[in-house]
Amino acid sequence: MQTIGHWINGAAMPPAGATTPVFNPATGEVSGQVAAGGEAEVNAAVAAAAAAWPAWAATPPLRRARVMFKFKEALERETKALAAIITSEHGKVLSDAEGEIQRGLEVVEFACGIPHLLKGEFTEAVATGIDGWSMRQPLGIVAGITPFNFPVMVPLWMIPMALATGNCFILKPSEKDPSASLFLAKLLAEAGLPNGVFQVVQGGRAAVESILENPLIQAISFVGSTPIAEAVYKGGTSRGKRVQALGGAKNHLVVMPDADLDQAVDALMGSAYGSAGERCMAISVAVAVGDVGDKLIAKLAPRVRGLKVGPGTDKDAEMGPLVTAEHRNKVSGYVDAGVREGAKLVVDGRGLSLQGYESGFFIGGTLFDDVTTDMSIYKDEIFGPVLSVVRKPDLNSAVDLINAHHFGNGVSLFTSDGGAARGFASSIKVGMVGINVPIPVPAAFHSFGGWKNSLFGDHHIHGPEGVRFYTRYKAITQRWPGSLRTGAEFTMPQIGT
Ligand code: NAD
Repeated sequence: MQTIGHWINGAAMPPAGATTPVFNPATGEVSGQVAAGGEAEVNAAVAAAAAAWPAWAATPPLRRARVMFKFKEALERETKALAAIITSEHGKVLSDAEGEIQRGLEVVEFACGIPHLLKGEFTEAVATGIDGWSMRQPLGIVAGITPFNFPVMVPLWMIPMALATGNCFILKPSEKDPSASLFLAKLLAEAGLPNGVFQVVQGGRAAVESILENPLIQAISFVGSTPIAEAVYKGGTSRGKRVQALGGAKNHLVVMPDADLDQAVDALMGSAYGSAGERCMAISVAVAVGDVGDKLIAKLAPRVRGLKVGPGTDKDAEMGPLVTAEHRNKVSGYVDAGVREGAKLVVDGRGLSLQGYESGFFIGGTLFDDVTTDMSIYKDEIFGPVLSVVRKPDLNSAVDLINAHHFGNGVSLFTSDGGAARGFASSIKVGMVGINVPIPVPAAFHSFGGWKNSLFGDHHIHGPEGVRFYTRYKAITQRWPGSLRTGAEFTMPQIGT
């Protein structure tokens, strides 16, 4: 059995104390033990980062970009090996694991352009004989705390942006699938990143609390569930840290009567059941507008019943197991609650057992109809392969429904009416909007983030917002001796005159 330790100052550090088990979700077996780090490990990482930071901050952006180019090559070369690690601990199918690596790699590609992205603005002669310009400087030591569901993509939303902008980064990955983080550390070292610039501290709550309490850590990027996101946001900002904390979601997909129904059904299948619904951009509510509900259910039900569920290593599987037995039981409990609360259970995925994988954490695709807003399956994030259909008479009532929800991560509208789509995109209170696109995850050169309880903080993640989050803005106004002398000025200088 493998033990999974930390990565401090350019070297692997084996677990020193307590560990927690890591599972293979397809078989249910314990595959490893991961270190439960805390204050000692966070302090060691911070000390190494503090030693490394001055030189890394002073490294020209062009040279930092070259490290990113090498990191990108290494990720491309090692995609299959990294995908196998993701599948072995998360459970998602291999093709989907490769997909998440690709989406993370795109952020690395964006960070390769850091010399351009860090260019400030210059004004010759903000006043007579005086020039003014702006620049962005790194914050120092920053930390990232990441969820189990994207053990590579979510860390890569943060790492390339933080490093390329000149910061030292400490990653605290999910304790449920920690191995990918060490693989990334090795690839970064191989790409020429100096020791101490990227480090990994494994663990759970104790490691997070030590990050919050450490006065040298300037900023925290968090991605995970809403209660923890809110706690990390409050705990970090109350100590003067900059925090972006991305939380949970309940994403709706509105199907209009004029939508291409087959396209909408394909979109719902992939976005509700891909990665077994363990995506913050998964669609978990289909809003059927007008008379589209019966037709939608008639097309969806056989597709959900026919979903190919299997271990992530099975090339034919469309959906793997959930991450832990505990999480599978929670999802199954929500299905029980939906039935109790009066929703119509069209397809029941509970109790699925796969031959040869009887101890795996599987649950089949589940479909509810006639779901109402008072039900827990509508209000809560389930984070499993459970799709609820809510019926609404028109687009306005669908918009009101979505705007009233406490989450606001992603949303989609399927329609052939351009005017309706334009009005929807403008008025919906959600951070990421798709029009005839099921999972509107912004490309790496835009930024990712939700509204309401889906994000605490002022900055979305990666892209231009990532550059802003990981840097401080500075404005310089300069005059050289020999230019015009104005004498002492006791009034506000009227530079434009
Ligand atoms: P989680 O909140 O349980 O864990 C996230 C991180 O917080 C992990 O590193 C974990 O070790 C740490 N943590 C857990 N409990 C803690 C505690 N009590 N105190 C301090 N730290 C703690 O989330 P998860 O189950 O790993 O991931 C799934 C959640 O993440 C879902 O809610 C999903 O919507 C969300 N998510 C959101 C986005 C987004 O972009 N908004 C992206 C991916 C996942």
